[in-house]
Amino acid sequence: MKRLIITIDGPAGAGKTTVSREIADRLNYKYIDTGALYRGIAFEARYAGVGQDDDMGLENLCSTLNLNFVKDERGLRLLSNNSDITDQIRTPEISMLASAVSARPVVRKYLLDLQRSMGREKGVVFEGRDMGTVVFPDADMKFYLNASQKVRAIRRYRELESKSFQTLEEVEIEIGLRDENDRKREVAPMKPADDAVMIDSSYLSVNEVVEMMLSYISN
Ligand code: C5P
Repeated sequence: MKRLIITIDGPAGAGKTTVSREIADRLNYKYIDTGALYRGIAFEARYAGVGQDDDMGLENLCSTLNLNFVKDERGLRLLSNNSDITDQIRTPEISMLASAVSARPVVRKYLLDLQRSMGREKGVVFEGRDMGTVVFPDADMKFYLNASQKVRAIRRYRELESKSFQTLEEVEIEIGLRDENDRKREVAPMKPADDAVMIDSSYLSVNEVVEMMLSYISN
């Protein structure tokens, strides 16, 4: 069977990660979490003391970075210059910082090339915000997964419960702010591609979303 590039875009907490992983597993494809790459840059910028709007500093930082994914028994791990930063990039602070640095054209340019190189061999599910619009406008199958802000906040809150001290209200404010930044930025704003299949997961189970997507993919 022909191996495809599949893109799954949408806002925080819509269920993209769980669904993308499952689709990739079922099809025996690779899965790439592009949000982790933006988080990786945010993490390294913070570590190096580079400001979120210091374009020159960010450009220099990107030129020395080596971000890549490896798979082990814990799942997909993000390595930055060979050190595993997977667990450190999942904090509320890094979420907001990732959203801020992701609006800088120098950062998007660097990741555009990296993401495209990761898609050179087909058979990949790419999860992100601009996968179907900017990075892979010719993707074989595009989805835009959404859910109401309340449902997304509750899901994210449950996911973080054991790791973060944020209240549900704080989680909802954070994802609202991030969505707004991501939607309103000038370069590659978060939006559905014209030819994306729109799915609202507010009242659907993971399995229902996965089955729905698989039926589009096989048609
Ligand atoms: O998906 P995740 O919530 O981990 O993404 C973190 C941030 O990275 C998003 O809020 C967004 O600002 C940015 N991002 C992006 N483009 C992508 C993926 C993520 O701008 N393709």
